[in-house]
Amino acid sequence: MADHGTFSAGLTPHELLQRPLQYIKGVGPVRAGLLKRLHIETLQDLLFHFPVEHRDRASITPIRQVKVGSAVNIVAQIVDVKGKRFNGKEKVDALLQDESGQMTAGWWNPWIADKLTPLAWGFFSGKITQHGNKKELSSAEFEILTDAEDEPQSGAKLATGPSFGRLVPVYNLRPKQRLASGEEAPEIRLNQNFLRKIVFETLEAGGAEALPDQLPPEVLDRADLMPFAQAIRQFHFPDSFAAAKEARRRLAFEELFVVGLGVALRRAQIDRSAAAQAMPLVPAILQRIEARLPFKFTESQTKVFREIARDMGKKEPMNRLLQGDVGCGKTAVAVATLLLGVAHGAQTALLAPTEVLAEQHLRTLTKLLANSRVKLELLRGSTSAAQRKEFLSSLSAGETHIAIGTHALLEDDVAFKNLGVVVVDEQHKFGVAQRMALRKKGRAPHVLVMTATPIPRTLTLTLYGDLDVSRIDQPPPGRGEIVTKWLKEADRPKLYRSIVSEAQKGHATYVVLPRIDETQAGEGAGENAKLWNEVKGAEAEFKRLKSHLPTLRVELLHGRMNAADKDAVLTKLREGRIDVLVSTQVIEVGIDLPTATIMVIENGERFGLSGLHQLRGRVGRSERKSFCLVLAETENEDAQDRIKTFVKTRDGFEIAEADFKFRGPGQFFGTNQSGMPELKVADLLRDADILADAREQAQFVVREDPRLEKPTNAAIKSRVKQVLAGRMGLVDVG
Ligand code: ADP
Ligand code: MG
Repeated sequence: MADHGTFSAGLTPHELLQRPLQYIKGVGPVRAGLLKRLHIETLQDLLFHFPVEHRDRASITPIRQVKVGSAVNIVAQIVDVKGKRFNGKEKVDALLQDESGQMTAGWWNPWIADKLTPLAWGFFSGKITQHGNKKELSSAEFEILTDAEDEPQSGAKLATGPSFGRLVPVYNLRPKQRLASGEEAPEIRLNQNFLRKIVFETLEAGGAEALPDQLPPEVLDRADLMPFAQAIRQFHFPDSFAAAKEARRRLAFEELFVVGLGVALRRAQIDRSAAAQAMPLVPAILQRIEARLPFKFTESQTKVFREIARDMGKKEPMNRLLQGDVGCGKTAVAVATLLLGVAHGAQTALLAPTEVLAEQHLRTLTKLLANSRVKLELLRGSTSAAQRKEFLSSLSAGETHIAIGTHALLEDDVAFKNLGVVVVDEQHKFGVAQRMALRKKGRAPHVLVMTATPIPRTLTLTLYGDLDVSRIDQPPPGRGEIVTKWLKEADRPKLYRSIVSEAQKGHATYVVLPRIDETQAGEGAGENAKLWNEVKGAEAEFKRLKSHLPTLRVELLHGRMNAADKDAVLTKLREGRIDVLVSTQVIEVGIDLPTATIMVIENGERFGLSGLHQLRGRVGRSERKSFCLVLAETENEDAQDRIKTFVKTRDGFEIAEADFKFRGPGQFFGTNQSGMPELKVADLLRDADILADAREQAQFVVREDPRLEKPTNAAIKSRVKQVLAGRMGLVDVG
């Protein structure tokens, strides 16, 4: 082992790990400042800055066998060093020699010459290029191995250094934080060898062993994982590629295991909370519910409602996720669920992410429950103080049977007398903590969360791992075809003719824009001006369309309008007094107009795949043939791929998987809201197998020890608390 006394400066490994980097020998304030931009402030942070790949510097190629274009490692003696000038640029050439032959290595950097001691042996790693008719090793990284006159070293002896003669790590040097202009930040100016050296020395000083292994030993054993310290060492400086992979598996497992434990604990907590009220679906109640619905459930709805009713018949609270594409009829199932609760004398709540949707639900329910004794109340953010007071008093008196509302329902002073059933619509618009908040307003309410955004399998296994899943996989009967097309500017006149001819048949068109205000060409920040110009805004488009389509009734709807104006527009829409509704993504949810047959999406390149799919769901709500037309002119390949995928597939699950790939797990639900901690190693797309293992082990552990009270689970328990508390509504775990 090399002498690390100076590096560790007499500190214990633990102290060493916590020391601010600028005080570490060889780092100093400038480099520490650069590392801070990568969120690395201590050696411990550095050990958790895992390599993105490894380079093979273990195998050595004899000079005679090198090939142009390949990356090679050479151990050779420096025979001669010369400086040259090419077009005013200085180049350093070194003649290298081993037992098999000679070749030149070149660097476009005059300072290199000082480091190349003639007659010394060195380790060189770089790419072979063609230089005239000669091969050359260009801009190699190197390390001088001997004093000038020493004998050459053997390979075994070489393999002690951080940068050569082994598999070496390559680290990410690019800060995550983007520049103000929105561009990626450039890499920090530190070289890989420097980082390797510091990490290497930290490991040599016992840094990895100073970190506790938080995984319970039985889990290590059952999942066949290497101990933590070994994983840290092998991930940075692996003995082989296979060892690197195993090390990575161990660390990815750990991250996913923590999430898995969080989910399993949350589930255990719900299961042992106060007993729920059992609400069996007896035939008399089923008949009453059926009598209220204007149509017969599809087979799929029937199956799902049966699953729900089975849960609600028990004394453990239901915790179920209902997935189903836009327009498949989730609302009807939600209504049946609420009515089952009401039939058993419980209060119920229906939570919606937007006021438009909440109002839509109120209207649907009001219609279905006309002439019944069921009392419905709506609470929204804009409800007046007086009305709110009334709402609260009838809620706490237990008079309200079904409370419908937006986030306003989650506020502290909203209290129920006996909340027994909670339904959350478009649940992905809410955070886990918000769902928990509503749940806590009852003793142990049955909870149904619904989403039209199909959730990729990996996420149902992680974040939603504590939910039972039901799926509506068939549309209501009598649904017409939806033709999806990608249109270019040149198609616009034809598009307007179609809008007019549909209007003549009494059919409505939606025109959706990415924003309310328009950005003018040239506006925006510097380099990005190009990105932002020509993004159309709803207000300006509304004016344009009114003048383009003078014979049609064109209206505008967006989130900044006041409630009364919004209501007026929505009423007109429902009454068939609008031909073209210009809007933003606010109409993604909550508008159900069977006569709408055209959905026009402007600046389609600005929408995510799931967003496009949601918008498409606004049409095709009757037997009429409908159209979803995406206007987009873009050079951006991702955007093109997205639109092509959208045009090709109507299957919500395919869309979700593709969207997940396009956007990555982080952005899928908005990381913080979703409750998903940042994953440094695990990759939800790639690591499905590790995920399945981790989840299984987590469930096993929680089944054996539901509060993680065993001493062997103590370390992982505090890790779970630290990583997930507040994120997953786990604050009150143990
Ligand atoms: P989702 O919320 O799943 O997007 P909705 O609940 O809004 O879908 O339903 C879409 C439309 O389908 C509504 O107009 C609804 O009345 C209708 N619908 C739902 N279920 C049926 C059914 N079984 N038969 C006929 N129409 C139905
Ligand atoms: Mg819905």
